[in-house]
Parts: sequence; C-alpha cells; structure tokens
Amino acid sequence: MMFRRNFPKVLCIGLILAIAINLLVFYSRGTSQISLLGHKELQLPLSEREGEVVKRLSHLEADLQHLKESMKLALKQQESMNSTLTRVKVEVRSVQNAVKSTESEAQKRKPQKKLFPHSQLFKQWGDDLSEAEQQKAQDLFEKFGYNVYLSDRLPLNRTIPDTRDSRCLRKTYSSQLPSLSVVLIFMNEALSIIERAVTSVINRTPSRLLKEIILVDDFSTNELQPYVRLAEELKTYLDEKITLYNHQYPGLLKIIRHAERKGLAQARNTGWEAATADVVAILDAHIEVNIGWAEPILARIQEDRTVVVSPVFDNIRFDTFILSKYELAVDGFNWELWCRYDALPQAWIDLQDVTAPVKSPSIMGILAANRLFLGEIGSLDGGMLVYGGENVELSLRVWQCGGKIEVLPCSRIAHLERSHKPYALDLSPALKRNALRVAEIWMGEHKHMVYLAWNIPLQMKNTLDRTICVDRGPVPGNIPIMYPCHEFSPQNVYYHLTGEFYVGPLVAEATAADHCLTDPGSGEKPTLEPCSEAARKGLHIHWDFKQEGAAVNRDTKRCLEIEKDASSAYVLVLQTCTSQVWELQHTVGSWGHAHAP
Ligand code: UDP
Ligand code: MN
Repeated sequence: MMFRRNFPKVLCIGLILAIAINLLVFYSRGTSQISLLGHKELQLPLSEREGEVVKRLSHLEADLQHLKESMKLALKQQESMNSTLTRVKVEVRSVQNAVKSTESEAQKRKPQKKLFPHSQLFKQWGDDLSEAEQQKAQDLFEKFGYNVYLSDRLPLNRTIPDTRDSRCLRKTYSSQLPSLSVVLIFMNEALSIIERAVTSVINRTPSRLLKEIILVDDFSTNELQPYVRLAEELKTYLDEKITLYNHQYPGLLKIIRHAERKGLAQARNTGWEAATADVVAILDAHIEVNIGWAEPILARIQEDRTVVVSPVFDNIRFDTFILSKYELAVDGFNWELWCRYDALPQAWIDLQDVTAPVKSPSIMGILAANRLFLGEIGSLDGGMLVYGGENVELSLRVWQCGGKIEVLPCSRIAHLERSHKPYALDLSPALKRNALRVAEIWMGEHKHMVYLAWNIPLQMKNTLDRTICVDRGPVPGNIPIMYPCHEFSPQNVYYHLTGEFYVGPLVAEATAADHCLTDPGSGEKPTLEPCSEAARKGLHIHWDFKQEGAAVNRDTKRCLEIEKDASSAYVLVLQTCTSQVWELQHTVGSWGHAHAP
C-alpha cells in the first residue's frame, strides 16, 4: 500500500536520474574520442618528401579543424548537460519538496482518533485515513464483509505471489488440453471484486483453452435503500463492462441473472447449464486465480473424466487484501457436515511427489469437472438452500457414483474469506437444514450422528444443582469438572448402552479419540481416557446408569457424585454411593439407531 502510493514519485526521480546518467555517459564518451584523435595526430611520422609533407600538413589542418569542431560540440554538450543538470537539480528539489509536503500533509491527515477502534477492518489497516474516509470504508465493509474501499483502489491486474511449490513449475502439459468454461457466481459483490476475478482468469488462463466466462448473479439485492448504488453497479455498470470485455475478447463473457434468490447450489447449476466447454470450473466471484491454475486441472480431467477436482486455496485477507498461503490439506467434514481441513493421506506422502493429486473426501465448494460427467451424476443438488451442505452432498454422490475427488497441489486459487456474509447474519439454520437433508438422503444408519451433532444438547446434570453440568474440563488435560451449563459440545455427554459415558464433542475422524469417563481405581477423581485405548487396557469405563438414577461403576462399584470443595464449589468425586442421582437432558433409545427427540 505504502509502496504503491509512493511509486509515481520514485519513478519520477528515477527517470530524471537516468536521463542525467545517460547524458554523462554520452559526454564522457565524446571527450574520450577527442583525446584519442589528438593522440593519433601527435604520432604522425614526418616524410622526407615535401609533397608528402604538404599533403600531410593539409590533412593535419583538416584534422585540427575537425578537432576544433568536435571541441565546440563537446562544449555545447557540456553546456547543455550543465543546464540539464541544473534542471535535474531543480526538479529533484521540487520532488523533495513535494515529498516533504505530502509527508506533512499525511501527518496533517493523520486522524486524531480512530472512529472504529473495534472494527475488524481497522485492526491492521487504515491508519492514514481521514475520518470521512474511515466512515466510507467502514460502511462498505459492513455491507460486503471485506475491504471494498481498498479493492476499489487496487489494480484489477495486480500481481499476487506464486504460491506453488517450485516443482510445479517444472511440470509440462500436453498442447492438446480440453477447453474450459469458468463460472463465477455472486450475490451482492463489489464490482471491482468481480472485475478483478474476471481479469485474473483472462490473464492467467491460456487464451486458446479459455472458451468462456459465465457470470451468474443470484438475484443481488436491488430494492433496499443502502444497496441502490450496488444494484446500479451490478446491473448497468457490470453490463457496460461486459460489453467492453467482449469488444476486446469477442463472445468471452456471458451473464445470467436469477429473477429470485436461489442459493449457491442452484447458482452453480445455472452456470453449469449455460457452459459449453469440455471442462467447467465453478468458482466464487471473490477470487483471483493464480498463475498456471488451469493446466493441472485440464490435464487431470483429460486423463480421467470422472475426477472432480479442487484447487488449493490461499486466503486473500479481507482487510489488507494481502495473500496468505495455505498449506496443502485434504477437504474433510465433521458430523455437522461442516467443512474442515484434514491431514494428507500417508499413501500420498509415500509417493514423495508434491505435485501429485491428493485423494480427498470432499470439496470445499469451488470445483472443476468434466462438464458432461458432472451432468451424468446429477450436478449439484438444487434443493440445497442458501448456503452449505451442497459440497458434502456432491462429494458423497461422486464417491458413490464411480467418481473420485482430488485436490491438485499445482493449481492454486486465492479466495477472499469474508469477515461476515452479506446474505445472512446467522447461517446455522441453512447449514442445519441442508446437513439433515444430506443425512436423510445418503447416510443410512449414520444419519443419527448428524442429528446428534446438530440437535441435541446432551448434558448430564446432578439433581443437587441443575445449573451446573459435567464438562470435559480444561484441554489439554483429562480431568472432567462441574461447570455452569452452556449447551456447547464440551458438555455433551453420551451414555452408550454398552455402559460407556462419552464426554465432549464427537469426533468424525479415524485418528482422533472420543473420551470415556473412567474410574482410575484409586484416588477420588474420575478421569477421561481415549475410549478404545481404555477398553484395550481394561480400565474401568463401564457404568450402570438409568435416567434419574445413580451412575455406578460396574467394576469398582463406586458412584460418580459431586461434593463441595473448600471454596464451596461442586467438584466431581468417586465415592461410596450416597444416592445422588443424575439426569441426561436427552436420551437416545439405542446408539446409532435412535429417534432424535
Ligand atoms: N451465493 C449465492 N447465493 C446465495 C449465497 C451465496 O450465489 O444465496 C454465492 C456467493 O456469492 C459466493 C458463493 O455462493 O460466490 C459462496 O458463498 P461464500 O463465498 O459466502 O462462502 P464461502 O466461500 O465463504 O464458504
Ligand atoms: Mn467464498
């Protein structure tokens, strides 16, 4: 930012100095030629014959004349150089003055106070903005969830760091790759953001491969007061820009506008339906594709038409627009069917080829696929509303319908992660609804895990004090505690019909352990141990429990109870039963086959 702002001045001084240096070189070259000439004449040998002498003298005279003219020229050049140097000095001084005055202006401009000290926007950015500018930037930020004020001032064709591993640069690709349609979907996006995405696609995709760019507008808001300018931008101005682009690249850009809000899955489908190339890449409109992004995708899909691929994301920071590189990972999901990054598979690590495709359970959202194959498996589920779940749904379908999902390490896209979404304050109703739809359709006997993850706060309370709940306790650590009830996952307690109490969040991952409430046999404090390890070691993890009854360890016969410690706070203890009882706020009939209440 700072560099960009000072750049014209630096360039100006540089140019002036370059001219001065050129003149100096020219001048010194001229003088050295003159001295050589003089030296040559002094070396002239005298002949004995007069005619020869006269001839030589006349030569000498001509040479002297020449020398005289050269010196005149040199003097002239020196004069002109002197005047250039004077001019340079004057200009340098005036540039210095300009720099000084800008600095003092900037100091003057430095706001007395930050208008929005708690705004995420101004944490690392915007110190030199006037109060009016801060207000404008904050308004735009609230509307869009990213720094539109800055975006509007950055070049559309800005350079971003190449985040590929150097080994990707040595890869070569066939000259006969399939053609590509790029779909960019948007809803209430800043015009400069869309234009930068389009520019990056045009500049960083070989033109012989790029058949079209299809913009899908999922009914950007057009009637609400604060959005009037936006509506104008996204309709009139964007149409004008598209005409301009098509003037330069005939037929390249298309735009489709939904007449009502249909949600992101349907917006992606609309783009896919309009696409005509061999391969379709469906992206958000707040991205900048990075150098060489398309070739690995096209080559891999050419090799195997059933592969649905995801590029690797980097993050464009929503406040500074600086790129932060993300490490390679696979795209997984938890029991809420919310996406998460998971560890790279050992089989891929063993390949020792950082450019090799990585098999992935899921995609994050952005995807590329063979256009016809995506149709054969039914494209995206248009019944997914607003946001979320559609990526996991597609992934389950791809893997179950003979396809594969892969992350391609050499294909990188910078994606702007917004600080908040412009289309919903709270996404969880849509996420929950879509996740349960996926569970019902695809997950068979495992669907209850999704219901559990979304629906039921499973606290276990002791009737002595119903305001406190069993809690997983500090992490790291394995000592459960009593803590004011809050319904978040550290307080989830699941009683398994085979006798185990699981405490804490359920983890949908082969490598992570669920924790079982354990009587260590000695001492009075219960512990939490990884269930499978505890079972293998024969620890005391089985309990008899009925709703509103005691929790009795089957081996030690000690009861899980609570008692007041020195500070009168309740703590968990294991002791001879004193008929304390517990209740689980919700119960499920049978593990894995329950009806969620
Ligand atoms: N989107 C849409 N309609 C909606 C909600 C979202 O077209 O009702 C688009 C949105 O404009 C974006 C894409 O879906 O291009 C993905 O949404 P977002 O970027 O908010 O999600 P994230 O990438 O942060 O997961
Ligand atoms: Mn996005």
